[in-house]
Amino acid sequence: MSGSQFNPPGAQLLHDIKRVVGDAGWMDVTDAQRHFDDPRGRFKGRGCLIVMPDKTEQVAAIVRACNGAKAGIVPYSGGTGVVAGQLSIDSDNAVILSLERMNKVREVSLDDGVIIAEAGCILENIHNAALEQGMMFPLSMASKGSCCIGGNLATNAGGIQVLRYGNARDLCLGIEAVLPCGTILSELSPLHKNNTGYDLRHLLIGSEGTLGIITAASLILKPVDPETATALLAIKSPAHALMVYKAIRQHLGDATSALELMSGLGLDLVTSMFPTLRNPLEHGSDWALLLEATGPLGIGERLETALTDCFENNLVLDAVVARSQSQRDNLWALRENTPEANRMSGAFCNSDTSVPISEVDAFINDTNAAIADIHPDVRINSYGHIGDGNIHHNVIPPAGVAKAEFLTSNPGIIDAVRMAINQTSHRHGGSISAEHGIGRLKTRDLEAFADKARYDAIRRIKVALDPNNIMNPGVLIN
Ligand SMILES: Cc1cc2nc3c(=O)[nH]c(=O)nc-3n(C[C@H](O)[C@H](O)[C@H](O)COP(=O)(O)OP(=O)(O)OC[C@H]3O[C@@H](n4cnc5c(N)ncnc54)[C@H](O)[C@@H]3O)c2cc1C
Repeated sequence: MSGSQFNPPGAQLLHDIKRVVGDAGWMDVTDAQRHFDDPRGRFKGRGCLIVMPDKTEQVAAIVRACNGAKAGIVPYSGGTGVVAGQLSIDSDNAVILSLERMNKVREVSLDDGVIIAEAGCILENIHNAALEQGMMFPLSMASKGSCCIGGNLATNAGGIQVLRYGNARDLCLGIEAVLPCGTILSELSPLHKNNTGYDLRHLLIGSEGTLGIITAASLILKPVDPETATALLAIKSPAHALMVYKAIRQHLGDATSALELMSGLGLDLVTSMFPTLRNPLEHGSDWALLLEATGPLGIGERLETALTDCFENNLVLDAVVARSQSQRDNLWALRENTPEANRMSGAFCNSDTSVPISEVDAFINDTNAAIADIHPDVRINSYGHIGDGNIHHNVIPPAGVAKAEFLTSNPGIIDAVRMAINQTSHRHGGSISAEHGIGRLKTRDLEAFADKARYDAIRRIKVALDPNNIMNPGVLIN
């Protein structure tokens, strides 16, 4: 990203912005270091002011003022994005617009089956607000205690239940947003059918703050299923994971809500980095599958019957079924602490690719081979949402070698590995970004791998809606 994309905001603009929000609504950058942290510790954000409006009208006034002065805005929700979309990494000139004070649940309507939440609501708080009404909001991921619904929608986040419920886009009925000219787009009505031209909600979802600021959303609630069954299975290969899924579907229909592939290496890393966690599978295996199904009473028994079939057909080597909520939490802790265990182990490349499900096994084998060609001793923790074809490859220095030392003696390896993964995914008909987005980190990759017509249309939409390029300049396209 070029710093020149952010015009320096003049003293008058900063004064006007502070007046819009009052004393409680802004922070000097020296007081706001958490807004500049990258969850993986790779970048440091910069900026000239943190502004924290608490009303949509305030957001609109700030955007109008910035648009008039052609000053750049970086929208910020929970700060858990992993592609530096929420961080101005090479310019001090950005106004950081944090939604943290817009954190109210405005309404829960059981008749409509929706919850209307402001953009700064933490995802887990939305889960809890839904549960209080006997309902659930199914979007979930390891960052749920920090990420906010505004960021989830801006990145069209995925997570662990996409298999059954879809990603953020599929769970949003309506949106309120401030467009780059400062107009408020108010489409929170929980209509399931609305064919009145372009669906601007879907244009804003996944736009990573480049087309406007999402201020609130109507989100779809689902009934809480009476029973949950969770199992951790030892399997021979990713191909076996998909065979198990097929077999389970024959017994449970579409009740499987999560299907997470984990590698033997990943389980070893997470249990060594978090000594309170234990891998309950008795015999080590190269691969494991964390599977969860929810449904009517009796789903647990049906899962066990399905697993018996899987054993008889040699699809599963070992299995542990959770008998209590705390055992279930322990199984999930193995998966949810995996990103942090990768970071602590010195991962220097964290991919977020997806391929058609039929290609997953070949994709994992081919990427592992391509990375081994670059450096035969690196460790590769391939894991992820295998039911959606979304695999994260985390590449880690050889055992006993520190990350800094490894990167110094292998210059260029980060780019080489990233390109090898992208090319392999592309060859298998996949995407270079399954759920994390493009941010500032992958703009060159998008340009290299996107279909030209698609890339050109994205550019033209951006220019049409944000002619002054004030909304998150440098994200998505450069
Ligand atoms: C441990 C861990 C696990 C994760 N697991 C997953 C996972 O399973 N699936 C997944 O999809 N992601 C995952 N992520 C990535 C991250 O949590 C998601 O991308 C999340 O949706 C970001 O939300 P946020 O509120 O933190 O957004 P931020 O980081 O604040 O922002 C993300 C992007 O959205 C823009 N933005 C933020 N708020 C708004 C707004 N109100 N309007 C317009 N633009 C806005 C920002 O400018 C930025 O470009 C994980 C991250 C971590 C650290």
